[in-house]
Amino acid sequence: MLLLARTTPRDQVVKRTEGLSVFLVDMREALAGGGMTIHPIRTMMNHGTTEMFFDRMAIPASSLIGEEGQGFRYILSGMNAERILIGAECIGDAKWFVEKAVAYAGEREVFGRPIGQNQGVAHPLAKSWAELESANLLAFKAAALYDLGKDCGAEANASKYLGAEAGFTACENAVLAHGGMGYAKEYDVERYFREAMIARIAPISREMILNFIAERVLGLPKSY
Ligand SMILES: Cc1cc2nc3c(=O)[nH]c(=O)nc-3n(C[C@H](O)[C@H](O)[C@H](O)COP(=O)(O)OP(=O)(O)OC[C@H]3O[C@@H](n4cnc5c(N)ncnc54)[C@H](O)[C@@H]3O)c2cc1C
Repeated sequence: MLLLARTTPRDQVVKRTEGLSVFLVDMREALAGGGMTIHPIRTMMNHGTTEMFFDRMAIPASSLIGEEGQGFRYILSGMNAERILIGAECIGDAKWFVEKAVAYAGEREVFGRPIGQNQGVAHPLAKSWAELESANLLAFKAAALYDLGKDCGAEANASKYLGAEAGFTACENAVLAHGGMGYAKEYDVERYFREAMIARIAPISREMILNFIAERVLGLPKSY
């Protein structure tokens, strides 16, 4: 486990992001030592997340990553990569939802014609295509900046935001295009409905992404 922990008390540093360090923790050792306990949280997705408790957990000094007190910078860099990755995952999901819905809308006939011939069915799918393609472009821009070692915080966050929204909306559109069959396990879209929600919340909520863009990109006053 990568663990970010405060190693210098808050009142001894100027900024609250200073004085934090990252450790690589051997979870088997930590669990055996009794300083760490994990309680699974029952969630709407399998193995969604857990609650963790630390109580005087001892770890060897060799588990420190990089320089003491610089941990927040390291975590931020990793977070940008994670955001690009999750944005890309959501875009892949969105593509699948659109393909799945288009296939169904092309073959399902009601009143003697395929339902995809109705613009009320076709337009949401076309809109999802446009949304996922634009999210994809920003994800590639963020990935290119990351690979060049350049600052990509705004692009990484925005591509995760757009990818998650495009993925969720495409999923909703896919369920709706299937009508009542959207609820049927046979068509495989219903189970994703729960999973498509998570990228809008974790590892960072869309509100926090918008706060970041408002403050760091647009220069608006801090909201907290
Ligand atoms: C399945 C799953 C897996 C997870 N995995 C991990 C993990 O591996 N590692 C990890 O560290 N965390 C993980 N998390 C936690 C996740 O990162 C947080 O749940 C998420 O960042 C939201 O934080 P919170 O739950 O504390 O919400 P809160 O901070 O309590 O916020 C609740 C709501 O209020 C909004 N809000 C709060 N403050 C503001 C503000 N100033 N402006 C606007 N809106 C605001 C939030 O956006 C959110 O919608 C996971 C969560 C889930 C559900």
